Amino acid sequence: MPEEEEIEAPVTHRLEPQISSTHRTVSSDHALREHILSQSKLWEWDVFKLEEVSGRKPLMHLAYYLIQRKNFFQIFQIPSGTLKNFLIAIEAGYQMDVPYHNSTHATDVLQAVSYFLEKEKMQGQITDLEILASYIAAAVHDHKHPGVNNQFLVATRNERAMLYNDRSVLENYHVSTAWQVMMQPENNFLVNLPEEDYRLLRNQVISMVLATDLAGHFSTLSAFNNKVLGTNTFDINQSPEDRAIFFRILIKCADVSNPARSWLVYTSWIERLIQEFLNQGDEERKRGLPVSPLMDRSSINIPAGQIGFIDVVCAPMYESFTMVVGAPEMVTSMKKNRAILMRMRDNEIPPLRLGENGRVIQRVRSTIRIAGSTTPPVQPTSSSLLQVSAISVLARPAEDSASKGSTE
Ligand SMILES: [Zn+2]
Repeated sequence: MPEEEEIEAPVTHRLEPQISSTHRTVSSDHALREHILSQSKLWEWDVFKLEEVSGRKPLMHLAYYLIQRKNFFQIFQIPSGTLKNFLIAIEAGYQMDVPYHNSTHATDVLQAVSYFLEKEKMQGQITDLEILASYIAAAVHDHKHPGVNNQFLVATRNERAMLYNDRSVLENYHVSTAWQVMMQPENNFLVNLPEEDYRLLRNQVISMVLATDLAGHFSTLSAFNNKVLGTNTFDINQSPEDRAIFFRILIKCADVSNPARSWLVYTSWIERLIQEFLNQGDEERKRGLPVSPLMDRSSINIPAGQIGFIDVVCAPMYESFTMVVGAPEMVTSMKKNRAILMRMRDNEIPPLRLGENGRVIQRVRSTIRIAGSTTPPVQPTSSSLLQVSAISVLARPAEDSASKGSTE
């Protein structure tokens, strides 16, 4: 990234050039970050390395990198400083103290979306505008996530539940607040888009972000699977409806792609996920509310919960999605991870369980150590509402459209 120093701070507060040994450190960190970004084209990519070397600001670095790599600055006449302002503001909207739904999760989803759209089967199928919209949707899809799910906001009569009438409360909030950021002139990097392109892009972003509400999972997936597996008539080039469903499934698969990653990366996500779940469970208990499934620290069974999530939510979607985009590596990794979880569940090997400090015992992911980095190791916290949400959805699939449930 040639203008690397500019992304460290808003362009209006640019730092003076560094000198001597500090400058060498900045340069080596920059080279390391660029190397990690260049690896983002691989499914085996480890987002936690970028989290560490970016000072926990991975989202703006990956988003800028991808947009630059696709030559979108030229294609869409995007002012680079304005894009940086937008990305910095969006990343700042993600709360660092939320264990799972922070900007590292958004970065992970963005990388997955980018990865799927780069697959050979997708070449020539998707327009540049749709790719840009998909990047934006992934980057903002959990903007300002509070670390509790829709059910909690509804049960506690939160003002956001009032604002959105209990329907996809968080998802509406994510995309709405992100667009409010976009509407600030200093952040509006879409300023040069023709009106029709802007309308199409905004519509796609809204559709994709709202699709991440797991409460609508079964209806979206059945529409997709009926055409891919049932009638074998799925065709994004012939059917606008199929095209819209494709983008919704694209971000949904990316959003719940943790079980399809390597075991080491997957278990780091589990750790964060569980921490966030337990935080909510503790809060529910404190308020005298029923403690949500998977959020009760006195009864949690991590392997069983993960297996249930894989079997009911992930596997049926991964398998049809990979037929469309050609990403069998997702299913392969998922099956390997599931086999390990099964052995844990059946006590053949020590299970993942929580220690007194909330950390997952039997660490399987070694501390990230990257030569030359001076950034302290990131404290592994955990979690995503996605698995908890999934269980809630599983409990009441008939309420699919009511959106009382989940968030990713
Ligand atoms: Zn998410």
